[in-house]
Amino acid sequence: MKFLTANTPALSLPRIAAGLATDYGLSGHLSPLYSERDQTLLLRTDTGDGLVVKIVNAAEDAAQIDCQLAVLQHIARTDPELGVPRVRLSRSGQTRSLIDTHLIYVLSFLEGRVPGHAPLPPRTLALIGTLQALLAKAMRGFFHPAAGTRALLWDSRLIARLVPHLSQLPAPYSAQARTAIDHFLAHTLPELPKLRAQILHADLHGHNLVLSPDGSPSGVIDFGDMLHGPLILDLANAICDFSTPDSFAEVSSHILRGYHAATPLDADEIAPLYDLILMRLIATALIIAFRRHASPDVPDYMAEGFGQLPLLTILLDLGRDGATDRFRQICGLPPLHHEPRSIAALLARRKRVMGQNPYLFYDPPLHIIRGEGVWLTDASGRRYLDFYNNVPILGHCHPGVTAAIATQSRILNTNTRYLGDQVLTYAERLGALTHGQLTACAFVNSGSEANDIAWRMARAWTGAQGFLCQDFAYHGITEAICAVSPSASKTGVLAPHVRTIMAPDRYHHSQHSAASFAADADRAIESLAECGLKPAAVIIDAAFMTNGILEPLPDYLAQVFAKVRAAGGLCIADEVQSGFGRMGTHFWGYQHHGVIPDFVTIGKPAGNGHPIGVVLTRPEILDHFVATSAFFSTFGGNNVACAAGLAVLDAIDTEDLVRHASTVGAHFKAGLTALMHRHCIIGDVRVTGLAAGVELVSDRATRTPAKAECERLINLLKDQGVLAGSEGINGNVIKMRPPLAVTIADIDFALAALDRALSLLYSVPKWSCT
Ligand code: PMP
Repeated sequence: MKFLTANTPALSLPRIAAGLATDYGLSGHLSPLYSERDQTLLLRTDTGDGLVVKIVNAAEDAAQIDCQLAVLQHIARTDPELGVPRVRLSRSGQTRSLIDTHLIYVLSFLEGRVPGHAPLPPRTLALIGTLQALLAKAMRGFFHPAAGTRALLWDSRLIARLVPHLSQLPAPYSAQARTAIDHFLAHTLPELPKLRAQILHADLHGHNLVLSPDGSPSGVIDFGDMLHGPLILDLANAICDFSTPDSFAEVSSHILRGYHAATPLDADEIAPLYDLILMRLIATALIIAFRRHASPDVPDYMAEGFGQLPLLTILLDLGRDGATDRFRQICGLPPLHHEPRSIAALLARRKRVMGQNPYLFYDPPLHIIRGEGVWLTDASGRRYLDFYNNVPILGHCHPGVTAAIATQSRILNTNTRYLGDQVLTYAERLGALTHGQLTACAFVNSGSEANDIAWRMARAWTGAQGFLCQDFAYHGITEAICAVSPSASKTGVLAPHVRTIMAPDRYHHSQHSAASFAADADRAIESLAECGLKPAAVIIDAAFMTNGILEPLPDYLAQVFAKVRAAGGLCIADEVQSGFGRMGTHFWGYQHHGVIPDFVTIGKPAGNGHPIGVVLTRPEILDHFVATSAFFSTFGGNNVACAAGLAVLDAIDTEDLVRHASTVGAHFKAGLTALMHRHCIIGDVRVTGLAAGVELVSDRATRTPAKAECERLINLLKDQGVLAGSEGINGNVIKMRPPLAVTIADIDFALAALDRALSLLYSVPKWSCT
């Protein structure tokens, strides 16, 4: 507290003028400027230039002055555009000189308006945030021992030293401040040394800011409170100092937004922001309190008293969690705390805007707010192992994919009508995964679209009109593809050009062989012929997901493809479900059947959640199609989609997920088979890689589907913390498709949950293995 006792220097103007002339060769008109510790003057030279002359308080440490002058010289080198004072060297090339015994230095004067306490518009506030970030960036590589060793009273980390003065705050602020300080010292302070740190200006407020005539911030002055500390401290001080009790919400949002745009802050830096703002507020009030106490002769701005203190109550009302979530939101981070909302209210709201038949999982439905890896979290904070969702094949919010999307979206996101590297690399990598067999790509946005375009290509190539699919298939939502999605049909009536083929379901048709199952394709082709039609294509999901997740039957698909090709048709492998290593061992599902299709269509997992659809085919088929029909999809193959797609391929490689799916899939299968031995409701277990189906029957001998029980079990399983779905023509197959990164421990968790859920199902005594 030496500045309270040390006297401000008071040299006469003629003495200063003489010193400036001798040491700096400067002359002009001198006028005093306000300064708390030093004697400060404005020198207007004869040419009209403004210079600030500082005669340093004798109690000031010369090393601190050198530090300030060195940082200004550093900034002049690292960011010459930044509005900070320039150091004027003396005639002998020194940054400082002496008048009598007083240190003196000269800086350029930043012309403009100092806003002081004046309220500032949102644009200015955001620019202040940006300016502060740029200033800190310019200072990043700067170091000076004097900044590191300083014990500044204004340093919020030293707030404990001010605690003895708490009683000088009016009620209720003293008690509120005490609670806040206690929390800060116990929980926040110990975390600060883990954060990115550097020498900071640490004192950006309305009296240290210069505005240009258009109101935008043009400069920062007064480096007298520099310290070495966590970057976020700088921002906390500015947010606090620019805020009033009425304006905190706005001011903090705009400054933070501006700052984050220039220097993205991470979650660890956001975490202490609220407490650091509180500490700045309390430290300011306490310093004012004890200065007033020690010396009634305080500067004007301090005599304003505790005007900012009501902000303390406002901040405490807002709460640490609420404020931090708001800061996180501004910085693009998900909230940590969530007000659970009424499911009934959400449902009613949904019906109002999304139709009266809500197509939702589970009863009651889940309100999911966050995903991470294999886990989903609902609004109450409950976590669920996601064994349903085949889209996040790498796990929810995979960091490699989210980073690729975020990075690319900041660089460029446009369509494929410009030349670019990314889409070519993505196409080449996909083509290589087909071993060079299908190297021509058409980019769209979804699995449905990919199938739709494959179908159009097949018709264009063959000139035929017939379409074959499996009897309970699903391939998408467009009109053409809906026609080959009988599982989604409400009427069960097929379009005249569509024929279905019986699925190779050996559990219900054990008498059949691959050849006899495949013979159904002959029947379908003949049936088309009876109507004067030929097959243009057959579309197959190699995992037979909607048909109840059927394991590959050797040679079955090869025979179907041969029959379709013999009739002039092409073969579409819809890899929306079965691709990307879902079935283990191979990247594509069709490889499990030893076939080579004419088209591979991809969707869902291709972007791990980002919409991507691609048709892969032979170059001549694509060329024929685009020669005969206009094709361009605005978003298909855009830069962000390709970045996501490439990140997915990278992760599958680097995390060795295809092999992993085989290994953990085998463990899953063994566990499910063991459950089948204990629970007689399980009639069949079918697992290929990480595509698993558990068929429930009310009678193993008759294989009678247990549909209602399956539905109940899915909900019981959800209550046990595992999400699964139901599938199959009879709706009695539990469908489980965890992200490929699922661990053995996750699988054991799911198996134990399924075991418990099955036991709960038996509490209806009807179920007994004997
Ligand atoms: N094909 C298959 C095998 C699918 O499972 C799906 C979606 N469930 C689609 C195509 C359609 O994909 P999308 O919903 O992305 O259009």
